Amino acid sequence: MARTPFIAGNWKMNTTKAEAVALATAIAAGTKGPAEVGIAPPFVYLDAVSAAVKGSAVKVGAQDVYFEKSGAFTGEISVAMLKDVGVSFVLTGHSERRHVLMEKPELVGKKAAAVLDAGLILVHCVGEKLEERDNGTTFAVCQAQLDELPATIADPAKLVIAYEPVWAIGTGRTATDAQAQEVHAYIRGALAKKYGKDFADAVRIQYGGSMKPDNAAGLLGQTDVDGGLIGGAALKAESFLGIVNAAK
Ligand code: PEP
Repeated sequence: MARTPFIAGNWKMNTTKAEAVALATAIAAGTKGPAEVGIAPPFVYLDAVSAAVKGSAVKVGAQDVYFEKSGAFTGEISVAMLKDVGVSFVLTGHSERRHVLMEKPELVGKKAAAVLDAGLILVHCVGEKLEERDNGTTFAVCQAQLDELPATIADPAKLVIAYEPVWAIGTGRTATDAQAQEVHAYIRGALAKKYGKDFADAVRIQYGGSMKPDNAAGLLGQTDVDGGLIGGAALKAESFLGIVNAAK
């Protein structure tokens, strides 16, 4: 089935406000072609970045969210607040939140449910650590992280899975095209078991992990690779747009 590729940039804890607005403006100006494009700046620049890309096709995303609706949760941000500043997609389960900020599966699952309940696009990240790949548990790790998702999801367009092998994130080491395709196919099969084949066929599965303009075409050319979640290369308009333009 034809799926529109989705290329999203995760800016992590980078940029000043001026840099964020300049980068967003350049990406909005340079975004052409068939791929859907999204950028996820730090929370504090969401409002300014939303204003900078207004009127363009670029979607604004958040790198995290808290699952409660409002109340005494010091430092946290709700889905309603994200919607209020123009956010249309939210990441959950990013490996840095799992392994640096030590988020547990139960919390990741509550966040994912809150994003979907609010009608936003969920980009749910899964992926194995190097020792897990080496000991043959890649599929089991991805399966457990997919199991965090709700038992039913109404609209496959609202779900995006990002397969991000942890050993490839920010390391310059990329999964081969075949390694990516193998896990993406596993993930689509797992989604088919849980939600049905038609649903699984419609879900975009992004690859993430040192994707760059020079390796993007090979990865994006794989049958089950429907886009990319980009870290380092998303911080320069030229390299990010190089990946966007590699998506057919
Ligand atoms: C990421 O953190 O989502 C990511 C893919 O980072 P990088 O592209 O820098 O490996």
